[in-house]
Formats: sequence, C-alpha cells, structure tokens
Amino acid sequence: MTQLKRCCHCEKMLAVVEFTSAKLKPDGLSSSCKACKREYDARRYAAKREKLLAQHKTWRRANGERIREYRDQWRAVNLEHVKAVQRAYDQRNADKIRARKAARRTALREINL
Ligand SMILES: [Zn+2]
Repeated sequence: MTQLKRCCHCEKMLAVVEFTSAKLKPDGLSSSCKACKREYDARRYAAKREKLLAQHKTWRRANGERIREYRDQWRAVNLEHVKAVQRAYDQRNADKIRARKAARRTALREINL
C-alpha cells in the first residue's frame, strides 16, 4: 500500500513520493508537496529575482577558483559523458561549425594579405 501524507498548503492527501526529502523533519519529508513547493519557489524567485541574481553574481565572483576546481574535477570524472555531449552538439551544428570555420579562414587570409 502506498503511504500517504497531507500537504500543509493544498491540504491534499498525496503519496510520499510527491514530497521532497527534508532530513530535519521527523518523517524526513518536506511539509508541502513538490507541486506546492515549485509554485512557492517560482513566486519567491519572481519577487526577488534581481536580488537573487545579484547574490549569485557576488558568490560566483568570490568563489571562482572553487567553481573551476569543481568543474574540472567533474569533467575528469565524467569525461565520456562530456565527449558524448560534445559529439552530439557537433553533429547537430555541423553546418554552423563549417560556416564559422570558413569565415575564420577567410578573415585570416585577409589579415595575411
Ligand atoms: Zn500541496
């Protein structure tokens, strides 16, 4: 039998898979369902968009080295995935890439005249 829980916002009885985990709660689940949380997050983001973007920008600037280290480490661990994504992009954009390379060759030829 599917375990149910009441959402504190919409007050619907929903399956526990409809709730995100919240380690500090007694049952380990968030008190509002995923749909209500998504709605709340969207409203909060819309209301504070500029402030949040400024905070993210400040954090990224202060943690550039940390971000680069994490990104490089992730890429090293997921190298095959990175290569597959790059191959797929190259295939999807073959015409665009060819045109860009041709334009670059033309520009270089003009510089070297
Ligand atoms: Zn809900």
